[in-house]
Amino acid sequence: MKICVLVKEVPDAAVDKRIDPATGRLDRSGETNLNPYDTHAIEAAMQIREDEGNGIEVGEIVAVTMGPSGAERALHKAVSLGADRSIHLSDDTLAGSDVAATGYALAKVLESENPDLVLLGQQSDDGECYTIGAVVADHLKMPSVTQVVKMVVTAGNAKCERQAEYGYDTVQVDFPAVISVGDAINEPRYPSLKAIMGAKKKQLDVKSAGDVGIDAGRVGTDGSKVSCGDFKAPPAKAAGQIIEDEDTNDTVAQIVAWLEERKLIA
Ligand SMILES: Cc1cc2nc3c(=O)[nH]c(=O)nc-3n(C[C@H](O)[C@H](O)[C@H](O)COP(=O)(O)OP(=O)(O)OC[C@H]3O[C@@H](n4cnc5c(N)ncnc54)[C@H](O)[C@@H]3O)c2cc1C
Repeated sequence: MKICVLVKEVPDAAVDKRIDPATGRLDRSGETNLNPYDTHAIEAAMQIREDEGNGIEVGEIVAVTMGPSGAERALHKAVSLGADRSIHLSDDTLAGSDVAATGYALAKVLESENPDLVLLGQQSDDGECYTIGAVVADHLKMPSVTQVVKMVVTAGNAKCERQAEYGYDTVQVDFPAVISVGDAINEPRYPSLKAIMGAKKKQLDVKSAGDVGIDAGRVGTDGSKVSCGDFKAPPAKAAGQIIEDEDTNDTVAQIVAWLEERKLIA
């Protein structure tokens, strides 16, 4: 079985997210990291490989990303967590791609890899669209299961439990398939020091849009249907009020008065 895992380089959780007013796109300067949700997808792939009872021989786990040059850091991290090799789709024509264009471009890379299973995270920590899995699956003409929190994999299919607003769906899906995993599916491992040191030596193929047959008219700003018209930063939060607990009865009275004033309690 060949598993491809989609991973994305995103601004670190500690970085204030800003939109670049000149381009209307996310300002990606500053510290970045592998999208934390994608570590669950890599872990899911590793658990399929390591499960001796499922009768599956995982030949390869391939991490795939689309992004600017710095995005290869996400691939190094993915490899340190267990992927065997990685692919970086990087091309100036892709800048400004919206979800539909990004999903199309990633699907073209995946098409060239012909995987049995595509795993991805439930959402990216920056765009938070939750959509790439479905878009990729549509292009690949594969079934798509999202928000999977439990997965029992056999040679031909996966029995998935997906988290829904009303409870859980149990869905059996035949391979090849695209499955996006929820963060409740597993506890991702930490990479060993040896794996971190060795990650840069593992095969990393950089591909251009032309290498995988991407139609330039379907990607980038011009090939995207979504454009950013206007945006406003959220209003700055007012400073909170700190009540020193010198006399507990008085503290409680102050909190109750504060809540009553705002009609938060009757
Ligand atoms: C108008 C517009 C302009 C944009 N311009 C740019 C730009 O110039 N440069 C840029 O980098 N992004 C740009 N983006 C964002 C980029 O297109 C997003 O990656 C894409 O929209 C996917 O959305 P998401 O990250 O919220 O995915 P989600 O659907 O929330 O992500 C789910 C999963 O999909 C996978 N995934 C998502 N994106 C990628 C990726 N790129 N590579 C591999 N796996 C991925 C991950 O596994 C992730 O966990 C733009 C978006 C819009 C709407």
